[in-house]
Amino acid sequence: MAAKIIDGKQVAADMRAELKTKVAKLKEDGIVPGLAVVLVGEDPASKSYVTAKERACEEIGIFSDDNRLDADTSQQELMALVNKLNNDPKINGILVQLPLPQHLNESEVLLAIDPNKNVDGFHPINVGKMVVGEKAFLPCTPHGIIQLLLRNDVKIEGAQVVIVGRSNIVGKPVANMLIQKNATGNATVTVCHTRTKNLADHTRRADIVIAAAGRPNTVTADMIKDGAVVIDVGVNRVEDATRKRGYRLVGDVDFEAVKEKASLITPVPGGVGPMTITMLLYNTVESAERAAGR
Ligand code: NAP
Repeated sequence: MAAKIIDGKQVAADMRAELKTKVAKLKEDGIVPGLAVVLVGEDPASKSYVTAKERACEEIGIFSDDNRLDADTSQQELMALVNKLNNDPKINGILVQLPLPQHLNESEVLLAIDPNKNVDGFHPINVGKMVVGEKAFLPCTPHGIIQLLLRNDVKIEGAQVVIVGRSNIVGKPVANMLIQKNATGNATVTVCHTRTKNLADHTRRADIVIAAAGRPNTVTADMIKDGAVVIDVGVNRVEDATRKRGYRLVGDVDFEAVKEKASLITPVPGGVGPMTITMLLYNTVESAERAAGR
C-alpha cells in the first residue's frame, strides 16, 4: 500500500498559526518578540534565505531587525554589532547567516552571540544543554523533524531509528533528541555515515529512517522495511532539461519506489524544508516568553 505523504507545509502552517496566537497574546502585554538577522555580503542564496526568514517573521507578528553589511566588513565591526544586539532588549533572537566571507572568523562570531538569544541552537552552551537534557533552544531542522513525527502520530518511544548522516546540524542533534528520556525521545538510535558497513542492514530493521546524507538515492526501496516511516532531509539539485531553470530538487530517498513500501514519507520539496524556518520562529517566541519571565 502506498505511504501517506507527510505534509510539511501543512504542519508548518499549523505551527505558524499557533505561534501567531502566542505573539498576539504577548503583544497584549506590550511584548513584541524580535529577531535580528545579520547578513554579510551579497551571496544570492543567503540573501534569499534571509528574505524568507524576515517575511516569515512579519507574517506572525515578530519584529524583524534587518542587518545587512558590506562584504568587506571587518571582524571588529561584526563583533561590535553582535555585542550591540546582545544588549538590545528589543531583540530576543540573533541569527548570523552563514557562510560568512572568508576573511571573517565564523566561530568567534557565533561564540559571541548570547546563548539566551541563540535561536538557531548551535551555540555550544545550547548544544551542551540539549545533550544533558536541560531546557535549550533546539536546532531548527532536527526539531522540525521531531515535530513532523509527533504531529503525524508516529510513536517515537521504543522505535528503532536509523539516521543516515552525522553532521552537526542534522544527524548528531536529531540523534540526541531522539535518545532523550522525555516525551519526544526514548527511541533506540543508530547513526550511520560513510564508514558504516552495510548501510542497508541497518536501515532495513528501522521503524523510522531519517536520511540526511546530501546525496540522491542514498536510500532505496530494498533498504526499507515494510511500513517504516521515512523522513527525507536531503535537498539535492539534479539536472532536468524539462525545467525552466535546468534542474529540480530531490531528496536523499528514492521517493517513488520507497513510498510504495513505507507507511509515511516526507516529500522533497514540501516535507522537512518548511519546518526549519518555522522552528526558528518557535525559538524566537520562546526566547521572548523567557525574557518576560514566562
Ligand atoms: P553534510 O554535512 O554533508 O553531512 C552528510 C552526512 O551524510 C555525513 O555525515 C556523511 O558521512 C553522510 N553520508 C553521505 N553520504 C553517505 C552515504 N552514501 N552513506 C552513508 N552516509 C553518508 O550534510 P548536512 O548539512 O547534514 O545536510 C544533509 C542534507 O540535508 C543536505 O542535502 C542538505 O541540503 C539537507 N538539509 C536540509 C535542511 C532543510 O531545512 N530541509 C536543513 C539542513 C540540511 P561522513 O560524516 O562520513 O562524511
